[in-house]
Amino acid sequence: MDLKVLFCASEATPFAKTGGLADVAGALPKALSALGCDVRLLLPLYPSAREAAAPLEPVREWIPIPVGVHTYHGHLWKAADTNGPAVYFLEKDEFFHRPHLYAHPLRGDYEDNAERFILLSRAVYPLCRHLGWTPHILHLNDWQTATAAAYLHFHWRHDPAFASTRSLLTIHNLGYQGLFPGSFFGLTGLPPDAFSVDGMEFWGQVNFLKAGLVYSHGLTTVSPRYSREIQEPENGFGLDGVLRNRSADLRGILNGIDTSVWDPRTDPHLPAHFDAEHLSGKTECKKQLLREMGFPGEALDRALCVVISRLAAQKGVDLILQALDAMMELPLSLAVLGTGDPELEKALGEAERAHPDRVRVRLTFDESLAHRLEAGGDLFLMPSRYEPCGLNQMYSLRYGTIPLVAAVGGLDDSVVDAVRNPHTGTGFKFYRHTPEDFLAALKAALHLYENREKWRELQRRAMAQDFSWARAARAYLDFYRELAAD
Ligand code: ADP
Repeated sequence: MDLKVLFCASEATPFAKTGGLADVAGALPKALSALGCDVRLLLPLYPSAREAAAPLEPVREWIPIPVGVHTYHGHLWKAADTNGPAVYFLEKDEFFHRPHLYAHPLRGDYEDNAERFILLSRAVYPLCRHLGWTPHILHLNDWQTATAAAYLHFHWRHDPAFASTRSLLTIHNLGYQGLFPGSFFGLTGLPPDAFSVDGMEFWGQVNFLKAGLVYSHGLTTVSPRYSREIQEPENGFGLDGVLRNRSADLRGILNGIDTSVWDPRTDPHLPAHFDAEHLSGKTECKKQLLREMGFPGEALDRALCVVISRLAAQKGVDLILQALDAMMELPLSLAVLGTGDPELEKALGEAERAHPDRVRVRLTFDESLAHRLEAGGDLFLMPSRYEPCGLNQMYSLRYGTIPLVAAVGGLDDSVVDAVRNPHTGTGFKFYRHTPEDFLAALKAALHLYENREKWRELQRRAMAQDFSWARAARAYLDFYRELAAD
């Protein structure tokens, strides 16, 4: 059976991106389509999407979509030039023609986010009806499209064409739930039953993600360990009980990485190329990176620790700042690329001023520099408090830049601790989120770095790991088949 899958998301590369969800929604449908699935995507038509998808073909104009007491009329378009899955866009300029996806940089979340994403979720049905194409699997992602599971449960499945459609919700980050005042429930058009503790009600509020957790047939997270962590009260953001109730239907599938974009043999952002057997190009990358970041010449002999991160509490960069004085006693340099929390930006700027020869900081978003840091670094630091999957540790492994990570979520699943597993290790881990444990792992890493032979071996093992999307796509396909057979 050729499985038909409609993949719904609020962002996907190359059309619109704020984070890891876009990478998954850009890559997974392609990998599924290579496995023989008939996958199609539904996305909002943001200005960036209009540009990246041009030329667009009209699919259908003036489709009525109810949201609360209003009926909006949206237009459906299709990207004309995709070699792979068909990509459909919902045009409703009043909601999606904005420079940012979810929030105004100064004024915060858009006030009509509930209406915007109800509209997107409800567009699934008229799109499929118009195409005369009903998916076996409705693959939803995060809170923005989670309510589609409730519409399938309460409305669409009564249409015989949709009776055997199954929904799957992927949780990319439980920290974002789509929480709105209880009075917004009327916007959903769902029956009153849905606004209960067994539905999408959450302490008197409306919780879009919870609708997906309750009404989807299957659930996944983006790493196996994260799927277990979110069932614990400390990591469940108030939804751990709901997740425990669904544990039989919840799986963790580690994300892949785009190995054509992140390939040290061909990466166009690098001054030199390399692979596991020819690492001289990596030394050249380090030399040039040190110059680019403004380190003095002698830094070449020290281990270069690299950080590329959103500067948010989740990412644990404050732990590095707490450990900084002790780190400066060790033979290392530190290069940081990140933007975000103004307090963290300020503290990093101060660290650079205090140790200009040892610490260099760039407070921007710079994709090209991120590639050069991955290539020129020796160690990649990722002290996240929680991490649904994480991409940089996988890029680092592929570039022979040994990751040092907090043993949480996808970091724990994708890195093998070389201290506990000397023959199979690919990186270093710390297990309690304290500066002391972080420093102990860092010292172990620097000790091994002194032994160039052993370090080479570690790099070779790291670079041999397979994080291609083909592996993840096969796991999703297995789950789709199980759900469709039910
Ligand atoms: P998250 O989605 O939680 O931010 P991930 O590790 O899953 O974390 O993905 C983050 C992506 O964004 C990575 O590709 C990372 O390299 C990139 N990134 C984060 N900050 C920057 C920055 N300042 N400049 C360039 N790339 C960045």
